[in-house]
Amino acid sequence: MLDVVSNRLFRSGNFCPVCLKVYRNDESDLPMVCCDMCDRWVHTDCDGINEKEYAQLAKTKSKYSCVLCRGEREERMDSFHRKNRSKNS
Ligand SMILES: [Zn+2]
Ligand SMILES: [Zn+2]
Repeated sequence: MLDVVSNRLFRSGNFCPVCLKVYRNDESDLPMVCCDMCDRWVHTDCDGINEKEYAQLAKTKSKYSCVLCRGEREERMDSFHRKNRSKNS
């Protein structure tokens, strides 16, 4: 039952705070970054991180703080949903 698994993952906080999609450790279809402050994983796409910045993050092992820790969740969700809306129209 996929729903049961998803609910469990959702409860344990295994979801991207921007698009609210649950993720599993064995799924690596989308690049994600781990927040150094709260250990959450966020899709690079959802945080507006481009490939270059992503490579830079990985290479320099610089600290990353997610949208929640930066207090930018509203903005990110806004632009995420705006993007989705314009895709549909
Ligand atoms: Zn996401
Ligand atoms: Zn965080």
